[in-house]
Amino acid sequence: MTQNLTALSQNDDFLTRHIGPDESQTAAMLHTVGASSLDDLIQQTVPASILRGEMPLPAPQSETATLNRLRTIAAKNQVARSFIGAGYHGTITPPVILRNVLENPGWYTAYTPYQPEIAQGRLEVLLNFQQMVIDLTGLELANASLLDEATAAAEAMAMCKRSARKNKSNVFFIDNSCHSQTVAVLKTRALPLGLEIVVGDAETELASTPCFGVLLQYPATDGSVKALTTISAQAKAQDAMTVVAADIMSLILLTPPGEQGADIVVGSAQRFGVPMGFGGPHAAFFATRESFKRSIPGRIIGVSIDSRGNQALRMAMQTREQHIRREKATSNICTSQALLAIMAVFYAIYHGPEGLKTIALRINRMTGIFAAGLSQLGYTTNTAFFDTVSVNTGDASTSIADRAEAALLNLRRGTQQLGVSFDETTTTDDIEQLWQIFAGDKPLPSVSALDQSLGNMPGIPASLERKSSYLSHPVFHQYRSETEMLRYMNRLERKDIALNHSMIALGSCTMKLNATTEMIPISWPEFSNIHPFAPRSQVTGYLQLIDELEQQLMACTGYDKFSMQPNAGSQGEYAGLLAIKRYHESRGDAARDICLIPSSAHGTNPASAAMAGMRVVIVGCDQLGNVDIADLRQKAERHADQLSALMVTYPSTHGVFEEGIREICDITHQYGGQVYVDGANMNALVGLAAPGEFGADVSHLNLHKTFCIPHGGGGPGMGPIGVKAHLAPFLPSHPVFPVEGLDPQNDTVSGATYGSASILPISWAYISLMGGTGLKKATEIAILSANYIATRLHEHYPVLYTGRNGRVAHECIIDLRPLKESTGISEEDIAKRLMDYGFHAPTMSFPVPGTLMIEPTESESKMEIDRFCDAMIHIRREVGRVESGQLPADNNPLVNAPHTLADIVADWDRPYSREEGSFPVANLREGKYWPTVNRIDNVYGDRNLICSCPPIESYMAD
Ligand SMILES: *Cc1c(COP(=O)(O)O)cnc(C)c1O
Repeated sequence: MTQNLTALSQNDDFLTRHIGPDESQTAAMLHTVGASSLDDLIQQTVPASILRGEMPLPAPQSETATLNRLRTIAAKNQVARSFIGAGYHGTITPPVILRNVLENPGWYTAYTPYQPEIAQGRLEVLLNFQQMVIDLTGLELANASLLDEATAAAEAMAMCKRSARKNKSNVFFIDNSCHSQTVAVLKTRALPLGLEIVVGDAETELASTPCFGVLLQYPATDGSVKALTTISAQAKAQDAMTVVAADIMSLILLTPPGEQGADIVVGSAQRFGVPMGFGGPHAAFFATRESFKRSIPGRIIGVSIDSRGNQALRMAMQTREQHIRREKATSNICTSQALLAIMAVFYAIYHGPEGLKTIALRINRMTGIFAAGLSQLGYTTNTAFFDTVSVNTGDASTSIADRAEAALLNLRRGTQQLGVSFDETTTTDDIEQLWQIFAGDKPLPSVSALDQSLGNMPGIPASLERKSSYLSHPVFHQYRSETEMLRYMNRLERKDIALNHSMIALGSCTMKLNATTEMIPISWPEFSNIHPFAPRSQVTGYLQLIDELEQQLMACTGYDKFSMQPNAGSQGEYAGLLAIKRYHESRGDAARDICLIPSSAHGTNPASAAMAGMRVVIVGCDQLGNVDIADLRQKAERHADQLSALMVTYPSTHGVFEEGIREICDITHQYGGQVYVDGANMNALVGLAAPGEFGADVSHLNLHKTFCIPHGGGGPGMGPIGVKAHLAPFLPSHPVFPVEGLDPQNDTVSGATYGSASILPISWAYISLMGGTGLKKATEIAILSANYIATRLHEHYPVLYTGRNGRVAHECIIDLRPLKESTGISEEDIAKRLMDYGFHAPTMSFPVPGTLMIEPTESESKMEIDRFCDAMIHIRREVGRVESGQLPADNNPLVNAPHTLADIVADWDRPYSREEGSFPVANLREGKYWPTVNRIDNVYGDRNLICSCPPIESYMAD
């Protein structure tokens, strides 16, 4: 081989790192599935009618070049000192958490804990999160995080409506102390549900306003602090519920809302160590009273027992989740913000109650000193405060704010006032600089003199000083040294299976490589330390990145415009349906409110349609799993005057490229409807076919599936929507930081303009690294890998649905119902048995009960896929031994799975060996993962619902 520079290309070609199978593995897999080439396989699989030409995307870039390019974009953001507040604050991420959680694939590549036996680590942290929220809010029950404060408030409004049954009012009262973005999201959410929002002064107007609920901000958005008791008592007298949106840090010093009559407390856990990130991702919290435990939205982690009676954790009331309730659902939350909730509670564990108190006291004291200095300078402010003062600046407001901005000090602008909000990162230097801006030519006050003159907790009314204790559970006391903290985090991490251990073949969820190069930029200060309401001039890097990502996604999908606001797929569905609704309304077609949804749809689809005020009509599927086109036509025709939309997933949730997709779109259009294609399965389409070209009007993309944002153990995610031009005017905007080119009055679906903006560099980097050719190749390999698995497994397990030429798309469903029939061994037994082989189970019983849906993705090598197939085949043999009577139906490696270390060191009287129990295949000897609990009893946990940390004695019971 010649050795010149052309032949010796730099060894950082990303494609070969992202795509698992190399050329020889690809050839072997093609041979197994009986295709002569990738092209041949794609011709056999994807309908010719939708195949597209080349995507208008640049060539693949190296990892080095991509990081360099991102650095120049990041450098265009200016990291100012932010005093804007309004729900977003500077914070210090303890480095031990930054490196070992946020930057650690053991945490960020985990999946949602639907398989609790291999997720005890993150379940424990999320239970700690609930305990923290319970303690700080003074309520009895909390969920394990929602998407952001504004949407959490909207969930609270919906919960009030369904809980305050005796109350017939449709009015939700919002006190004018609330953050503007929260008000905007509530207004958006209220309208389609037929609810009316009244914004006013609760103190004076609530009594004369019949309503079913009231929302207060604590402390108020302008920083003032007022007691909640009178208003909550007034609400109660009216049979209305009280919701309080609270600042988590203030609750350390202030009497918690739960002790002042609040029924629901929501808020953001951002300032507990999670960077502002231009708006997200951050975990919101939601707490309520015990009596509402059956109607709380989102995930709740609960305590249960395993088959040996030992304590074990799992998601409580899973069957209550949205995919079961479907069109009767009241919330569509799926992906939430698990990783960020985990970071926030680790922050509380790291600091402990004393450390948190010091932080809160310091923030408050800085604020007190600053306010006292302002008063010396002749300004007036609110006198009751925790961390925020609103300075009465009158006509000088703009000039003062401009001066501050020029010095990279961002204040919150008002017409006659300026807001100044302090946080953990505030220094006395900041205070002096700010005084200078406000002082004009007056002499500056002295920090130390004021510090000496002030009493304890300046600005906090004595009657509102917190008396109750919090975070008394040992977990908040034991891990203060970095050594202990590190080991605690590591101990929990090792209890769980994540992508750094083995493939997670989750159908519909696309658990692919989250490359290190893609992840690195998210912790750069130019991306992480930016307030979402920072002046536009300081975020040109972000706006460029968002614009470029939009162009990239348009190239991938064939759409004309994107909105980055929805911060999860579910929120994208909601935003997309609202755009459709607005479009119909703009044409005088307001009566269109029917949404056709195939019976196989993901649960979020009907839930989102219900939230958008649509009536759901289910369309059947035929025996092959395809949309029953005759049924579709009939229903579209029957509802022709009211048809608003069709929601369909493509390729279908059955993992098949339906040949009729164009016809399905045409029929919908013919009867005046719009087509929503759920983009969760885009990993089978990118580079091959584009929804915007085959007839769809709008789609969300799950950037945390197809475009490499990691799942974080249940979030973060991003669900941007792409639309055809006619829907573009109806995309969401924002009251504080409007989207250019859109009416600022448009709907608002998230607290921040660009949702979870700080994780967008991940998808940008992925697309840049792969280029058009790489993305197409990835899709082809994903399809090859799924067909390879289907081919290898079909002799052992029936593959449920296939398309033309017997091909599946990027995932395949294996049917376990016949086995259950003949042996009693269930899909659950097989899922749990896979844990003994070191694997996370594929998607269980979605979309078809009694099945597993397997999606390998392009990132898994043939070696790993074979290891998985071998495990499945080996498990089938184990089932065979039960079938033949060699092993009893109620005592075999399947029903006893998973096996823990404790199992095999204990006395052993089972009809199979310890070896067969825990080391069924030889390769496990190289690196065995040990489940830490036995099979968990879900029913027990739901009957005895415990959603807070059990007392420490219960851990020590045995
Ligand atoms: C994952 C998924 C969703 C929901 O997306 P989230 O980001 O979890 O809210 C919707 N539809 C399908 C088909 C999915 O797989």
